[in-house]
Amino acid sequence: MCKFAEYLMIMKLVFATANQNKAKEIQAIIPDSIEILSLNDIHCLEEIPETQATIEGNASQKAFYVFEKYEQNCFADDTGLEIEALYGEPGVLSARYAGDEKSADKNMDKVLSKMKNFTNRKARFKTVISLVINGKELQFEGVVNGTILNEKKGNSGFGYDPIFLPDGSSKSFAEMELSEKNTTSHRAKAVNKLVEYLNSLA
Ligand code: IMP
Repeated sequence: MCKFAEYLMIMKLVFATANQNKAKEIQAIIPDSIEILSLNDIHCLEEIPETQATIEGNASQKAFYVFEKYEQNCFADDTGLEIEALYGEPGVLSARYAGDEKSADKNMDKVLSKMKNFTNRKARFKTVISLVINGKELQFEGVVNGTILNEKKGNSGFGYDPIFLPDGSSKSFAEMELSEKNTTSHRAKAVNKLVEYLNSLA
């Protein structure tokens, strides 16, 4: 195929993240016929609203925001920690569970305090990726089941990692090397499903 024909077949896809590195990571594992753009690349510098009541809803809202306002195909992710004994909290509120300052330490302290008297410590991380192509949406989900520890353990990672023990592991997410967490994480599982789908389009 001549270069011009190849050029015409390249699909541009925005990853609704301000983090250039996340966009580069995905670009490295998908076909060259799909070009990943970050929000910076399309000059979307405003904060995208995340006002829905569910993780699925927020992922969808972000992807459709870019599709409608910037007329670009797009995918967006949203993640939350869901604790069974707390009826799914912090869930969609994970980032701001203890307040708008988004303090990971305060969020974990709030969870540990609420869980003080619970023996059921089952929890799961869930990532949902919403992909919007020409106005049609597909969602990809990644889940990791585990339990909430009684205290923080480990210094790696971010968010709730120090209090989350994935099933089958003796280490909290925060005690793992990044590479180890990344092979098994909720986010990796959702991304793998997205990449498998994108590969099927190529
Ligand atoms: P986001 O949707 O990726 O921005 O995640 C929302 C919030 O969930 C973050 O601010 C963290 O508090 C929490 N979170 C998301 N992913 C992880 C993770 O892999 N480990 C621990 N906490 C996470």
